[in-house]
Amino acid sequence: MHKQPRYQRRRIALSAIIFIACLSGSALFLYVQTSIWLNAQQQNAMALAKNQLNSLFSHVQRSAQSMYGLAGAPCTTQTIEALRRQLAITPNVGNIELAASGEVYCSSLQGEVPRGADRRKSYQLYLASDIKALNGHPFVLFHLQNGNYGLYTSTDGYYIRNILESASEHVPVILSTAWGWMSQDGKVHPSTYTASDKAIVIQSGSYPFSLAAAIHSGNVIQTCLEDGRLMIAILILLSAAAALFSYLWTGRPRTPEKLLTEAMKNRELHPYFQPIVKGEHPAPVGCEVLVRWLHKGNIIPPDQFIPMAEQTGLIIPLTQQLIIDVTDKFAAHYQTSTPFYISFNISARHLQSASIEDDFDYFLRRVGSNINLVLEITEREMLTGNDTALNNIERFKARGVRFALDDFGTGYSTLEILHQMPVDIIKIDKLFTSGIGVHRLCNDIIGNITDLATRIGAAVIAEGVETEAQVDFLRHQGDIAYQGYFFSRPLSVDAFKNWLSANAAAGEP
Ligand code: C2E
Ligand code: CA
Ligand code: CA
Repeated sequence: MHKQPRYQRRRIALSAIIFIACLSGSALFLYVQTSIWLNAQQQNAMALAKNQLNSLFSHVQRSAQSMYGLAGAPCTTQTIEALRRQLAITPNVGNIELAASGEVYCSSLQGEVPRGADRRKSYQLYLASDIKALNGHPFVLFHLQNGNYGLYTSTDGYYIRNILESASEHVPVILSTAWGWMSQDGKVHPSTYTASDKAIVIQSGSYPFSLAAAIHSGNVIQTCLEDGRLMIAILILLSAAAALFSYLWTGRPRTPEKLLTEAMKNRELHPYFQPIVKGEHPAPVGCEVLVRWLHKGNIIPPDQFIPMAEQTGLIIPLTQQLIIDVTDKFAAHYQTSTPFYISFNISARHLQSASIEDDFDYFLRRVGSNINLVLEITEREMLTGNDTALNNIERFKARGVRFALDDFGTGYSTLEILHQMPVDIIKIDKLFTSGIGVHRLCNDIIGNITDLATRIGAAVIAEGVETEAQVDFLRHQGDIAYQGYFFSRPLSVDAFKNWLSANAAAGEP
């Protein structure tokens, strides 16, 4: 029982692995989906922003074109007024400047301006925040050249920032011109922007600017967390459901037959060995193989599955596995100077099968000459004249295999069986042994069984010997071998080998 939690832990661990695997798979799926969606969504938003900017610059361009006539005009009050009038009627334009020979000389904001080197002259679109009168306010300058004369119309960076902001729902979008770029917060950076390889870049087509946005994993994750909460909750629930399903599935009740079949496949069935001893100073003469099912850390006693195995026919593959295990783990290597027998419990079904001789052939061909085979047949499983069984018995006898009648005295047809098949050994059931000195009848029955055995030339093994008093009584009944907890419980193969080393061998039963 103490190992049951380990099985539980395995079930829980498996469910946890399934939960984590489902969750990781879902997270990956969500990430990829969001990343694709974000890309498409971003492209759309940027295409819209590009159109809005194109339309903004077309206003600015139109306003510059309508001022063409003033290019080269002296910066008089009338000129400045004409510039300002134009400002009043054109949307989005904040300032108009006139230039000659590449230098600004007249401005709608400042009037006449001192001439000086002007680096803006080489760009059609100039993005900056260096108009002193605008106190660092961002703006975009549109430049139109008419021969020697130039026209600059500027638009407030505020409009552009609004457009960038609306395109930057999940990922910041920047506006890049040949000179300077504006981040989504409206700040102008007076340098050339270099977009990363992964960035989405959209060229205007109409004006020399582009929009760029780089989608990083952080953006995708943030978008998942912000927009995919319902999806995340559903995926967590589905993963939990898969884990729960696995937990319930691994713990589902299975038919005993299925459990036993799996147990055989998983090598959960092990031979145990109970010594059989004999003599004045009882020493080992043989052992009985008793199967043990080590299931989920528990030992399931054979009484709980052998009857079912016999009914379903699983007893045959079970015994076959046991024969191989006993041979490989013990019998093929055990060397002894005195005869020693290994006794297997055989069901009637197996004895009636065509395979039994082949099954034990594995054992018989591998053991040393001092190792003998005994087959125990329980009296309750009567073999009423089955030809295959009788043939099998005959062939086994020819190979020196002996037969023991198990649980003698507990069935109804003892004499009939004795008549039918040549019994070499009679095993007195532990029911009678435990009654020694308790019920007089048991003492008499044991006496009768040993008499009968002597008469038919069979040896006797008393099962279930637990006390010295029982040994004393049995010793006076005749030449009896003993099997029972008084000498040893059934032992695992290693424990049995140790037990054998510690107890010298005697002789035949
Ligand atoms: P069985 O053939 O009569 O085996 C003897 C049973 O008595 C074993 O129970 C053994 O552990 C138990 N025993 C031995 N000494 C004592 C003792 O001093 N006191 C008491 N109270 N019990 C003792 P186990 O191992 O539980 O096996 C029960 C039955 O299951 C066996 O009875 C046998 O009929 C069947 N069985 C066990 N292994 C196999 C197998 O490999 N094949 C087949 N067909 N049946 C098996
Ligand atoms: Ca037995
Ligand atoms: Ca028995």
